Amino acid sequence: MPSAHAEIYPREHIPKQPVLSGLSFTDYSRSEIPSVLDAGEVLFASRGSMAIGLALQHAQIGNDDEILSPAYHCISMIEPMVWCGARPVFYRIKENTSVDLDDVESRLSSRTRALLVTHYFGFPQDMVRIRSFCDTHRILLIEDCAHAFFGVIDGAPLGSFGDYAIASAWKFFPICDGGLLISRSRKLSGVSLQSRGLRFEAKSLINPIELAFEYRRLNVIHPLFKGPLSIRDKLQRVRRKRRSAQEVVSTPSIGLGGWGFDAALVSKKMSVFSWFVTRTASRNRITRFRRSNYDKLLAALRHLPGCRPLFAILPPNVVPQVFPLVYDEPHLAFPLLKRAGVPIIRFGEYLWERMDAATCPVSNELSRRVFQFPCHQDLDDSELNWMIDKIKSVCGGG
Ligand SMILES: *Cc1c(COP(=O)(O)O)cnc(C)c1O
Repeated sequence: MPSAHAEIYPREHIPKQPVLSGLSFTDYSRSEIPSVLDAGEVLFASRGSMAIGLALQHAQIGNDDEILSPAYHCISMIEPMVWCGARPVFYRIKENTSVDLDDVESRLSSRTRALLVTHYFGFPQDMVRIRSFCDTHRILLIEDCAHAFFGVIDGAPLGSFGDYAIASAWKFFPICDGGLLISRSRKLSGVSLQSRGLRFEAKSLINPIELAFEYRRLNVIHPLFKGPLSIRDKLQRVRRKRRSAQEVVSTPSIGLGGWGFDAALVSKKMSVFSWFVTRTASRNRITRFRRSNYDKLLAALRHLPGCRPLFAILPPNVVPQVFPLVYDEPHLAFPLLKRAGVPIIRFGEYLWERMDAATCPVSNELSRRVFQFPCHQDLDDSELNWMIDKIKSVCGGG
């Protein structure tokens, strides 16, 4: 966890996550690459982590059941397992992040109920083999599409291979909440989810708009909001003074990740605004720009000293969540990048404490060395070029 003496870094100079703009709703031509929305029955949950909880609940997993889980993970993938009374049993992944099925097989037991598989950063696992492995051993397959809202294997969308799949809408759309539970084979219609209330509904609309203003989007409507937003800020300051100084502000200003599993939100649904954006934003625009931004980053950063792209090619069926770079000296690069205002996402920075550190040396290395940079649809060329220059200068290549 972050230490008390952690350096405070400046605000990120370019947006880490997608940002709402007029462009979010342009281009309704059909995306050539399908999404998890095409993979089966869909339930709009509060977040991806809570969708894992819903899947486990729906499958009646708990009571010391074992779930084969990747050693390269984020805490919010494991917390829902513990919450429902199941036990994660960690398996190895290979250097290219593919599932080590031999290792998975060696960890099967009479208590194994499910295998959880993650498509890291949007790059699909070998789902045909993994599906047949699960059928052979009669265990459930849970497909973690948190990084792979889009993607296809042999014409079948990602999310359609698992008995259940989960996804994380806010990582792909300009919204601050939203996870999906998807199932091709199970009836999810019996599950009913409740709204998080009017206050949250309002926040889920206002936060993305404010983030857009901060990064100079939606300029046309900005003047209309200035008055009301400053009144709200004043009211909040007054209210905060009245409360104890210790009290933590409950919701982060925008869903920028790292806020873990919350059992109280398992039975809650996605906000109306986030649901609307997830259903109506241009998917073609998202898939095209993420792919072209990834290609630009790849071309510019593939031969730098001291780091290398985790995936040196972008196959045609992939829509990347981020651009992962593997650093030789991550502890040196990190503060330099952060001080320059470069947004860095660090999936798996912290691994489950109770996992034996000897389980998977590769995962330990990935956890330490891999930084992810944004390649989302709302970065313009000048922002992308700015980031490329900063990354190059830190690597001594520019
Ligand atoms: C982010 C993430 C989750 C959890 O999704 P949230 O929407 O943040 O709750 C699950 N699995 C993976 C691989 C993730 O990166």
